Amino acid sequence: MKFGSHVSIRDGYLGAAKQALSMNAAAFQYFPKNPRSLKLKAFNKEDAMLCKAFCEENKLESVAHTPYPTSLTPKEDAKRNKVIQSLLNDLEIADACGSIGAVVHFGKAISTHDPLAGYQLMIEILNEVLVEWQGDCKILLENSADKPGSMGTTLEELVQVRKLCEVPEKIGFCFDTCHAFASGLWNGDNWQDVMKKGEQLGYVEQLEVIHFNNSKYDTGLGKDRHANIFNDGYITETQFDQLIQNPQVNEIPFILETPKEKVSHQEEIKQLQDRWGSSYD
Ligand SMILES: [Zn+2]
Repeated sequence: MKFGSHVSIRDGYLGAAKQALSMNAAAFQYFPKNPRSLKLKAFNKEDAMLCKAFCEENKLESVAHTPYPTSLTPKEDAKRNKVIQSLLNDLEIADACGSIGAVVHFGKAISTHDPLAGYQLMIEILNEVLVEWQGDCKILLENSADKPGSMGTTLEELVQVRKLCEVPEKIGFCFDTCHAFASGLWNGDNWQDVMKKGEQLGYVEQLEVIHFNNSKYDTGLGKDRHANIFNDGYITETQFDQLIQNPQVNEIPFILETPKEKVSHQEEIKQLQDRWGSSYD
């Protein structure tokens, strides 16, 4: 199992990779730039290159997470170009750091009269970004945490948006366990159905990363509040077992985005490794 967590780039990209290794992680996630802004970053290419080399040397995998204001369904036209430029900037940084991809949240509904408008806008924006993007790293679409029935809460939507884009091969998926639980996609008792459907739809094949989080609220409430994996949220160890026991997920990174007040990420990674193993060796 490739367990890791979100880490800070306070000490640069190489610094982030070193921190992950010092935590005995096999993977990590980072913000390529300021998480609260879409402002482009003229990043340090040498630092990114050193990060990539360090990760290859130490068999560390990484993913970037786009800044919070990155919306694939921006309400104002003025924001649209900012989002596109920011996404290209994130992809460039992530690629230079040797990352698998840049995680982006699924879009939100933009019209009450036209339920398709949000999907159309999302696809337009993804097309504009990906037609221009020539690197290896992918956009990783993440499932939403909203109430059942909201945009981005089903595997069908994720797969369909990918299919309808001009360059689907540049899109992969990020499955957030807390979001899936909050939205009712995974209610804790239907993992086998989720997996079966994911395989039939071709979702599992494109799954690149898991955001491994427990949930502070019960399933179906649409509340995105992450909790620690053990003895904290509503998802039980046995329910997580069902997810982890699928050989299809053993090769992909599991990234903690859990609170650090009760237990540090380093300790929590250790707990995961003690419970589910760190590797096949
Ligand atoms: Zn997430």
